[in-house]
Amino acid sequence: MLGVSKNASDDELKKAYRKLAKKYHPDMNPGDAKAAEMFKEASEAYTVLSDHDKRAQYDQFGHAAFEQGGPGGFGGFDFSGADMGDIFGDLFGDLFGGGRRSSRSASNGPMRGANVRTSVNITFEEAVFGCEKQLELNLREPCQTCKGSGAKPGTSPENCTKCRGTGRVITTQQSIFGMMQTESVCPDCRGTGKIIREKCPDCRGTGYVTKKTRLSVDIPAGIDNGMSVRIRDKGEPGTNGGPRGDLLVEVRVARHPVFQRDDTNLYSTVSIPFTKAALGGKIRIRTVDGEVEYEVKAGTQTDTKIRLRGKGVPSVHNKDRRGDHYVTLVVAVPTKLNREQKKTLQAYAKACGEE
Ligand SMILES: [Zn+2]
Ligand SMILES: [Zn+2]
Repeated sequence: MLGVSKNASDDELKKAYRKLAKKYHPDMNPGDAKAAEMFKEASEAYTVLSDHDKRAQYDQFGHAAFEQGGPGGFGGFDFSGADMGDIFGDLFGDLFGGGRRSSRSASNGPMRGANVRTSVNITFEEAVFGCEKQLELNLREPCQTCKGSGAKPGTSPENCTKCRGTGRVITTQQSIFGMMQTESVCPDCRGTGKIIREKCPDCRGTGYVTKKTRLSVDIPAGIDNGMSVRIRDKGEPGTNGGPRGDLLVEVRVARHPVFQRDDTNLYSTVSIPFTKAALGGKIRIRTVDGEVEYEVKAGTQTDTKIRLRGKGVPSVHNKDRRGDHYVTLVVAVPTKLNREQKKTLQAYAKACGEE
């Protein structure tokens, strides 16, 4: 079936099967019964030959070993025996993997609780220098009345009979691939493995109660819009003794009317009178640290960019490292002149030799 010699290596076997599987796979031949049959036969052949014990039986007894009730006692075809996930890994993704590869113990063992997300609004300056914010949120806590079991005090949860306490059920189905086994969450106990006959009145059998909780969150200097602060162990409670998840607080930073921010640098625009631009002189510039004095050079043109070193935003990783503040100087031309100003400017124009 696979077209390999009797002493083919595991690798040759795999290669031959992969080729056939690709050719005859039902996904590639929709509605083609003959291809489906070929696929099934190739899969069966591979299952047998890739298993060392079964291959030994085949080598000894030939095909008869695998007929119903044959000497090998290997009746029918059990897909779950072969590691199809391995060979199909890159070929068909999770087609065969699915339930089999997921950890069986995960549903019943200690599991970490889910992370919880919330958000907080802060001002631009609070983001630059850091702040502390109070949060009020509903946290789920194990119910004190039933100690988290969900059962009415004096009673206790019983093992689920459908899944025998494992939380998972296995269903076997006949399909074109042979017998397929799928594992799923038990519908009776929803994966917990326990059935509660009499529910705890305080938590209605869930084992948890919601409590309004106040928390303070330290927001580090330099945080940027959209970043999150993680508060350990303030997420959903774990199950079966697992640890709590974390609380992730997304920080929303308000825009500022004067400053724009890019990472740790700040940008702003300052307008200066055209006389100061021409003559030079002191101006005051607003920064996040307050106003600073700056000496404009005589003959400054509009759109001149200056850098105020270290007046930017601290790095969120190291608050001692600050970015810079870039200021664009815009020369303002007056839109209204009184008589005296007009006369002075006309005298100036004349001095320049203008008409
Ligand atoms: Zn309870
Ligand atoms: Zn169950």
